[in-house]
Parts: sequence; C-alpha cells; structure tokens
Amino acid sequence: MTKPVLGWLLTAWLLLGQLLSASAHASAPPPLRLMPGDASFPLSPHITYWHDIHANASVDQALARAEAGDFMPLPDGNPAFGFQTGAYWFYLPIENQQTDEPRWLLVQEYALSDTLDLYLRYPDGHIEHQSGGDHVPFEDRFIRYRHPNFRVDLPPHQRVELLLRVQSQSSMQVPLVLFSPKAFAELMRDAQFFNGLYYGIVLALLCYNLVLWLTLRDPSYFWYLLHTAAFGLVLFTLNGYGFEYLWPNSAWLADVSVPLSICLALIGMQLFSRSFLDLPQRWPAGNLTCLLLVGFFAVLGIASLWLPYEVATPIASRAVLVGIVWIITASLVMIRRGYKPARLFLLAWALFLAGVTAFTLLAFGVLPQNFWTQYGVQIGSALELLLLSLALGNRYASLREENIRIVQQANEKLERGLIDRTRELRTTLAQLGEANVQLREYSRRDPLTGLFNRRYFHEALNEALTAPGGPQRPLALLLLDLDHFKAINDQYGHLAGDDCLLAAARCLDEAAQRHDGLAARFGGEEFVLVLPGADAQTALRVAEVLRQRIQTSRVEYRGTLIPLSTSIGVHTIAAGQHAVPEDVIRLADEALYRAKRDGRNCVRHSLSSV
Ligand code: GH3
Ligand code: MG
Ligand code: MG
Repeated sequence: MTKPVLGWLLTAWLLLGQLLSASAHASAPPPLRLMPGDASFPLSPHITYWHDIHANASVDQALARAEAGDFMPLPDGNPAFGFQTGAYWFYLPIENQQTDEPRWLLVQEYALSDTLDLYLRYPDGHIEHQSGGDHVPFEDRFIRYRHPNFRVDLPPHQRVELLLRVQSQSSMQVPLVLFSPKAFAELMRDAQFFNGLYYGIVLALLCYNLVLWLTLRDPSYFWYLLHTAAFGLVLFTLNGYGFEYLWPNSAWLADVSVPLSICLALIGMQLFSRSFLDLPQRWPAGNLTCLLLVGFFAVLGIASLWLPYEVATPIASRAVLVGIVWIITASLVMIRRGYKPARLFLLAWALFLAGVTAFTLLAFGVLPQNFWTQYGVQIGSALELLLLSLALGNRYASLREENIRIVQQANEKLERGLIDRTRELRTTLAQLGEANVQLREYSRRDPLTGLFNRRYFHEALNEALTAPGGPQRPLALLLLDLDHFKAINDQYGHLAGDDCLLAAARCLDEAAQRHDGLAARFGGEEFVLVLPGADAQTALRVAEVLRQRIQTSRVEYRGTLIPLSTSIGVHTIAAGQHAVPEDVIRLADEALYRAKRDGRNCVRHSLSSV
C-alpha cells in the first residue's frame, strides 16, 4: 500500500518543482535589494544572462527578452563562460534600500574584456549608457582603475534595471560587483597595497639581479632577468595594469600583450633553466628538448601577433603548464645526477606551481576564496622569484667552490710534477757530474795501462814546479824506457808487448802509491814517475827498487817467460829551487840515455857525480 502512495507523492513533487522552475524561467528575475548594512554586492548569484550568438540584438530587443524571462541565471552562479563568439547580455533589476547611498559603482573584476556597454533604465523609462573595456580608451573610465568600472546612480526605493552587454575576444568572464564608494575605496586600498608589494618585490629582484649580472657577467643572471621581467609583465597585463599604464589607447596591444608576454616569459623561463642547470654541459638531450621548447614558444609568440586572441591565448596558457612540467622534470634529472644547485631550483618552481594550483582550484570552486588562494599566483611567483635569486647565489657559490677545488687540484698536480721534475733534474745533474768526473778521469788516463797520460803529467809537473817560491820540498823525476822493446814486439807479437807494458805499469803504480808519487805513461814504452819530497838518494833508491821489480815481473808468452828490463834516468830538484819542466824532463832524458849507453837495465842520475 505505502509504495504506490510514496511513488505518487514523489511524481507530484517533481512536477511541482518543474512547474516552479518553468515559472521562474518565464518571468524576469526578482530585483536585487541593496539592504542597509551591506556595502558590496557580488552580482553573480542574482544576475541573469542571454547569449546573443550573432551579436546583433539591440538594447530594446535585449530588454524585451529579459522582461519575457528569456534570460537565464548563471550556471552554478559561475560568471566564466570560456572563449565564446557573439555577445553576452546580463540583466538585473535593482532596488536601493539605502537612503543615504544613492551613488554606487559597478566593477567588472576582469581586466581583459574588450567592450562592455552598460544600460541603466530608470522608472521614467529613460536609459543611461556607459562604455568600458580595453577597446575603449582608458581615460574614458569613470575611475582611473585597472578594472572597467561604471557609475551607477540608484535613487532610493526605486527599481532600476541594469543591462550589460559584453563582447570580447578574450575569455568571457563577467565577475560583476556593485560597491558603495566607501567599500570600493577600502577594497582598492588593500588590493593596491598587496599588488604594490608584489611588484615592489619583482622590481627589487630585477634591480638586484641586474647589478649582479653587470658585475658577474654570468648569463644565468641575464636569463633570470628576462624571465622575471616577462613574468612580471604577464601579471601586470592580466591585472589590468598594462592597459592602465603601458598602452592605455591601444586595443591591439591590449589583445596581443597577453599571449606575447606569456611566450616571452616561457622563453625566459626555459633559457634560464637551461643555463642554471648547465644543460649544454651536463645533459645534452635535456638541452635539445629545452631548445626545441624555446623554438616552439618563439614561433607561437610571433604567430600570436596575427593569430586571433582566442586561438593564441589558450595555447600559450597551456604551454605554461608544459614549460613548468618540463623544468621540474629536468631539475629532478639533474638532482639525480648529483647537481646540488638543482634542489633549491626545484623548490622554487614547486612553490610557483603550488601558487598557480591554489589559484586554479579557487577558480574551479574547489578551494574557498581567501587571501592565500586569491593571491596564490602572486605569492607563489614572488617566493619563486626570491628562491630563484637565492638559488642563483647558491649556484654561484658552489661553482666558485668547484673552481677553487679545480685550481687547487691543478696546483697540487703542478707542484707534484715540479717536485718530480726537480728530483729528476737533480738525478740527471748528479749523473752528469759523475759522467763529467769520469770523463775528466778518462781524459787524464792512458787507456792501455790506466796510468796518468802525458798531458796530465805535464800539468802536474808544471803545477809542482811553478808554485810561488819554487817547490817547498825536493822533487824527483824518474824517466823509464823499456829495453829492447821493439825486439820483444817482434819476437812475441804486439799483444805480448802490451802485456809487458801493463806489467811495467803495475810496478810503477805500486811505487807511486807507496811513495805518494805520480806515475804516468810518457809515450810508447816510456814512463815517468814524479816523487815529491824525494831527494837524489831517495829517488835513486826508489828507482833501483823499481828497476828490480820490473826485471822480476813475470810476463809469460806461450809458457815461456819474456825477459823484461828497463833503463831509468833520474833528475832531482832541491827544495825552493826554480826549474822549468822542459829542462827537468830533458835532464832526466839525458840520464836515461846514459843508462842506455851504459848497457841498459840500470839507473842513472842527471848529475853523474851522484
Ligand atoms: P832501446 O833498448 O834502445 O830502447 O830499444 P827499443 O827497441 O826499446 O827502442 P825503440 O824506440 O826502437 O823501440 C820502441 C818500440 O816500442 C817501438 C814500438 O813498436 C814499440 N811500442 C811503442 N808503443 C807500443 C805499444 O803501445 N805496444 C807495443 N806492443 N809496442 C809498442
Ligand atoms: Mg823508446
Ligand atoms: Mg826502449
């Protein structure tokens, strides 16, 4: 029983609902009453609209439609329709219940709409018209303010009909708010303060980094400047300041400035990231991707000068997301590759993304409207710009450290190399010194016998004789000549002759060592022995011993002993006596000849009396 009754009730309820909504649809909306106490009225929940697709309806036609109830409430109270063709009409009757406030201000809180036409119909039937939007010169605005605004005179307790026609190439957004003059002044004060703060930060960062760039000449700073300036310009344009301060009379610039500044900011952002992350050196594939993106943004930027606004701007806006996603990817890759400065860089972009996300979620109604969501983009980007500037400093410091480390390493390597080279040089010098000593020794020695050679003997004798005041001690010179040596050579051969020369040399060397003398080969089979400190007696004794030593030295040839003997001439100089080396040798030679004449194998002194 209950089920059919419930079903019937539900159907009746639904029918009633439909009827009610149809009746609401069929008549003009109830007037908005400006009750005492409130000073600002957002119109979105109350206003109705009609889409004039061909944009050819007149004011009277639009009013007639509004009265006939052809206008609709805003879908979900949302005043944003996206990019649309044709014109939009908005209609709302208003009754001012505030007797002390007859003058109001209507503000379109979106700066980029092209043309707005406001019609106010008063109870006596007369219609007032005002124009606004960025296709109308800025100075025509009621208040010199970044958002289009209109004066609305609302005599108390009268019904005034508000009809607004909007036509724009930009996205159809019509967030209308009715302000009392006091409420508007207060709102503007806060908004101007926060916007001033934001652009102040951007300007300070620009100046600061400009100085850094001029000082350091690091290209990263230049790209940072480009990115910051272009991004500042984007917000400046979107907030309506571009039209207010930069191109108040150019509708064309008002249109192209949005996609153009976005593309410029995208290019700056990519080139800055490329330079900051050092992609050309550290990640060639990433570098290529970056350059391709820059190429695309550049083409889009140039094309936006000719492309219709409603084509260029949505592409540019979506490209922002692509650009940020790419930068975050590149930063993550560089962090994984151990590039430390990329961490702060990533944090900066993440903050920016968070700000943009907060603002977007506000636009979609997911987040409530508050200070943080409304100023999300400004807060996020201010933090991002600040952090990027910090990251630049941080990167500069870490690059400097890296440089110092490289220079230090190079210095250490150089030092080590220098020490090695010095050591090698020292060794070489020592070897050279040794070789030199050896060479000198070789140049003094006779190669066959190893005794001193004739040249050295001359030097030594000269030195001994030319000492100032003559030699301090007596000096003896023994001149030896092997007997019949030619015959030994002839009989036993030259090799046996050499052996005999060696045997004689050994005897001379022994004698020289024993008596602290100098033995030398004078030439052929002739030798000399200089005996410092030896007088005639000593010299004759030494000569005699030497003669006997040579005679008894045993040189064998094929089992037979070679008879060896020598004749010795002796000349002695007394201490302090002046003598010329040639004379000394000549006198010893004469003594030697005497020994030969006297039958050889004997010793003779230059003074036959000795
Ligand atoms: P004397 O008793 O008069 O000195 O007769 P001698 O044969 O020794 O005199 P001479 O000056 O005519 O001969 C010297 C010889 O010494 C001639 C030469 O062949 C030989 N001689 C010179 N230098 C060398 C050498 O380096 N090796 C050899 N095996 N023989 C040499
Ligand atoms: Mg001779
Ligand atoms: Mg001889």
